[in-house]
Amino acid sequence: MFFQPPLSSRYAQLSKAELRAGIQESKSRLGKRLVILGHHYQQDDVIAFADLTGDSLKLSQLAAEQTEAEHIVFCGVHFMAESADILSSDRQQVILPDLSAGCSMADMAHIDEAEEAWSFLAEAAGMPITPVTYVNSAATVKAFVGRHDGACCTSSNAKLVLKWALRGAKPNGDPHAGHKVIFLPDQHLGRNSAYALGWPLESMVLYDPKRPHGGLRPEQVREARFILWQGHCSVHQLFNLEQVEAIRAFDEPYQIIVHPECPWEVCQRADQVGSTEYIVKTIREAPEGSYWAVGTEIHLVGRLAATYPEKHVRSLADIQCLCTTMFRIDLQHLYWVLEQLAAGAVVNRVVVDEETKRWSRVALERMLKLRPDQPVSAK
Ligand code: SF4
Repeated sequence: MFFQPPLSSRYAQLSKAELRAGIQESKSRLGKRLVILGHHYQQDDVIAFADLTGDSLKLSQLAAEQTEAEHIVFCGVHFMAESADILSSDRQQVILPDLSAGCSMADMAHIDEAEEAWSFLAEAAGMPITPVTYVNSAATVKAFVGRHDGACCTSSNAKLVLKWALRGAKPNGDPHAGHKVIFLPDQHLGRNSAYALGWPLESMVLYDPKRPHGGLRPEQVREARFILWQGHCSVHQLFNLEQVEAIRAFDEPYQIIVHPECPWEVCQRADQVGSTEYIVKTIREAPEGSYWAVGTEIHLVGRLAATYPEKHVRSLADIQCLCTTMFRIDLQHLYWVLEQLAAGAVVNRVVVDEETKRWSRVALERMLKLRPDQPVSAK
């Protein structure tokens, strides 16, 4: 967790129009030396200034392609800014407008807990284990995975990475073949992806980092194929079966599309499950007049509804499923960092140390090398 000292009261006194004008002026002064990245879950006021929008990994890859830009202002959360620093060049500086914009899920897997889990699991497993971490994790956890022959994954490619990590193990195959997998930090993405590959829920156990040995006995680890870290996204965890049933009771023919960070039972009852990019693409390509109930962060759902008024797009939930940490990035903080940059001062730079960067890159590059048309059981 990082702390953002309060801004000068001057920023709070500016009207929205003044903030927008100030941001625009700083942007113009910085020209091609600046690129602003906006995550899909970002609030509308901020996304209006983004040069590029996307999910976390797409934005980091786009950042690396912006060779002219020295300053990458990442309107997202801390782990995303770290990924951009890992993938961008040494001459680029990554800036997070509010350092307190963390991710509740990434904060559920600390490097010390991961190391402690590894020393227990590697011995208890009775066979090799491959660690896999969702990109929504701290750079130190990505580096841990890289050092232990594992890989990162995204919500788009989690199944592909799991197949690779299993090293040939099959749902009804030889229980002694291949590897086990420890999946961090999102239990739901791990469970949903493994289940979609044909693995039963009984092949998975939950590792609780707050309990000794994760609350597991060695024989439970030996019998499991997947050890799922007990972490979750505080936004997607809010979707539940009651909301699904309420939508199903409507007269209109709603299709339910949800993110794989949602609980397993919600994904089972949904019509489609996919990453943020998949949700955006599906609704963009959907026919006019179609009905969609979407299980993901509310700013993205609201923007989809506004962009495609000829389609009927609403949230799966009546409650506000808001990423409160991402919401910390506002016009005041964006103006502050840009004003400073235009004056020649770099504030709120996110820097990953060289050793962590090296091993995180290994974990990210292992993932990026995997292609759906390649044999994925090969080491
Ligand atoms: S939506 Fe969830 S996983 Fe994404 S940044 Fe917010 S808390 Fe983290």
